[in-house]
Amino acid sequence: MFKRFILLCLALVLVGVLLTQSVFASPKYTTKWEKINAPVNLPILMYHSVENKPGNGLCVPPEQLEQQLKYLHEQGYYTVTPAEAYKILVQNKVPKKHKKLVMVTFDDGYENNYTAAYPLLKKYHIHATIGLITSKIDTQGMLTLKQIKEMKKSKWVSFVSHTQNHQELDRLDEAGQREEMQASRTWLKQNLHQKPDLLVYPVGRYNEVSPKVAKESGYKLALTTQPGPANAEQGKYELHRQRVVPDMTQEAFAKLLQP
Ligand SMILES: [Zn+2]
Repeated sequence: MFKRFILLCLALVLVGVLLTQSVFASPKYTTKWEKINAPVNLPILMYHSVENKPGNGLCVPPEQLEQQLKYLHEQGYYTVTPAEAYKILVQNKVPKKHKKLVMVTFDDGYENNYTAAYPLLKKYHIHATIGLITSKIDTQGMLTLKQIKEMKKSKWVSFVSHTQNHQELDRLDEAGQREEMQASRTWLKQNLHQKPDLLVYPVGRYNEVSPKVAKESGYKLALTTQPGPANAEQGKYELHRQRVVPDMTQEAFAKLLQP
């Protein structure tokens, strides 16, 4: 009887170990986190299109993106996911072994995020977050659902909401804003089977009702285009970001990374 009990215990422990291993198989999740007292500053980089288009401030050429991602890799930056950004900003927790933190975001969901950026993310082990305009998926020049699914599966890319139609939210009434935020959230849930916790305001435009509507729609954080590192004191739904523009020197790029 006692022997049977011991065997049962051993079996339960074994099942437990196997389950934990399969859930936390990605090396990211083996990181130990520690709580610190002061609110954390997290630099969040903002990119858009990855292509060579001189004169267009929203387009960073692939060679420049490569230099920047290589720099993050060589300098030992820990590139955080949206869930980790919440942990860092709201719960004041940081990964124990990694003092240099950065979040890399791409707005709009251009197809070149797959053709030009994704190979570099894999090459330099950078985790990136793409804000999708859900009505533009599978349209000319934008990401296809197939590409999105492949990137998501790789674990190097997270997908969040950049609303349904990319309208400037401060021009919409509360119901209009709610529709933009909720329709995109529903799309992400249905097609990627995930709860998108993060919202990126189109063109950085929002007004006093936007944080409330974002919260009620189920988002946990929202990003603006206000410059500087993000900090919870800005408000969970008004987090700042650092814009990466074309032709930056390495010195200027490094400045964006300062917490
Ligand atoms: Zn945008």
